[in-house]
Amino acid sequence: MNKKDQELIFELSQPGRIGYSLPELDVPEADLSVLLPAGYLREEEPELPEVSELDIMRHYTALSNRNHGVDSGFYPLGSCTMKYNPKINEDVARFEGFAHVHPLQQEETVQGAMELLYDLQEHLKEITGMDEVTLQPAAGAQGEWTGLMMIRAYHEENGDFNRTKVIVPDSAHGTNPASATVAGFETVTVKSGEDGLVDLEDLRRVADETTAALMLTNPNTLGLFEENILEIAEIIHGVGGKVYYDGANLNAVMSKARPGDMGFDVVHLNLHKTFTGPHGGGGPGSGPVGVKKDLIPYLPKPVLVKEEGVYRFDYNRPQSIGRVKPFYGNFGINVRAYTYIRSMGPDGLKAVTEYAVLNANYMMRRLAPYFDLPFNRHCKHEFVLSGKRQKKLGVRTLDIAKRLLDFGFHPPTIYFPLNVEECIMIEPTETESKETLDAFIDVMIQIAKEAEANPEIVQEAPHTTVIGRLDETAAARKPVLRYERELQNA
Ligand SMILES: *Cc1c(COP(=O)(O)O)cnc(C)c1O
Repeated sequence: MNKKDQELIFELSQPGRIGYSLPELDVPEADLSVLLPAGYLREEEPELPEVSELDIMRHYTALSNRNHGVDSGFYPLGSCTMKYNPKINEDVARFEGFAHVHPLQQEETVQGAMELLYDLQEHLKEITGMDEVTLQPAAGAQGEWTGLMMIRAYHEENGDFNRTKVIVPDSAHGTNPASATVAGFETVTVKSGEDGLVDLEDLRRVADETTAALMLTNPNTLGLFEENILEIAEIIHGVGGKVYYDGANLNAVMSKARPGDMGFDVVHLNLHKTFTGPHGGGGPGSGPVGVKKDLIPYLPKPVLVKEEGVYRFDYNRPQSIGRVKPFYGNFGINVRAYTYIRSMGPDGLKAVTEYAVLNANYMMRRLAPYFDLPFNRHCKHEFVLSGKRQKKLGVRTLDIAKRLLDFGFHPPTIYFPLNVEECIMIEPTETESKETLDAFIDVMIQIAKEAEANPEIVQEAPHTTVIGRLDETAAARKPVLRYERELQNA
């Protein structure tokens, strides 16, 4: 690594050096005091780094090369994986008619954009088996909250004010109990059995007339299909509750099975996961919510409707829970999801599901001899291993994750779900080639062997990255340590 790459842009600074060369001004310099009141104008020049054009370009190019993204390497982060980001999506999202519409434009001038949104809703209805869909929520968690608020409005409309509880399995994604709390419910945990599936006995015990809803992911967060789903839905419906489907990751069931046919009343999807929206850095997202007939009156308003070939936002929805997002969702992400669905077609989406499941099972079977496999059964789009065997040798799952960095792989999710000791959760996705899967598997096997023969190399990893093992707590609490150190030295 070139020393210059490691320096801060401020350290590259040389007095008087500038990054451009332009002719002298031949017009008077603008009088800023005309534009801004004097009180807002700075009195002294800001302290900016003084560098040449090449220095600044090379500095940022070098920084960008340190990033890991789905375009630079394998990203098997179970459950929240960065999935496929096809480049055709970017072309379509940049069409002038999509990129330049103003959110406050009159409806009659944006009929095309509204048609795209309406058609996307229709496709999502078909994929999920729901009766109506809203595209308003901006993320999965907001979709969850929106769905729960509709369930709440439904119960209250029925005079059912005692339904204060939302049941969530112990393997659930953390946003499920969080959304339930924000929607004003109390969460009750239902245990998973030895087989990783919802324990029906325990579910019967916790489900009662105070149950507002059960939130479930199927396949669950362990990558296992809840094969008793019809019975689970029956238990909850039997006590008057609603069944909520967390469909953030639909790669294992899309075009094969529909939440609407499994007895679910509400579903949210993450268009920024399964439906290929890029979501680096936490956004932007799109978390549409689909509902069965009973819940349609409570959908967030406005509702996008089509009447005699004309698209219109309907605000006259007296039972609506209200608006959950300004305008109508994250339009750009919805354009990308629409492009993906249309370019794949139904057979393409089915192939996605088949490859996602095949890839995960292939990887699980090849790794099973080297790691503990807590649930020895077919998985869906993801699977969990346990690093228990390695822990006995003094190598923790965190060390394994760090060692993967030495080989250029983004580590999988670790220590989640909480009900598996030393958990390693892997989602390969449908888009990776067999060569990439094999390369990752070979490295995992090598690390398992190192843990036996030479544990220090794993315990002290990473060795090849720009920054070595971080103090995880300090990294979260003091992200700009170096700058602080400089202030101290000044
Ligand atoms: C990602 C994810 C969520 C949350 O989605 P956000 O868009 O990050 O809010 C919820 N549930 C599951 C299973 C997820 O994987």
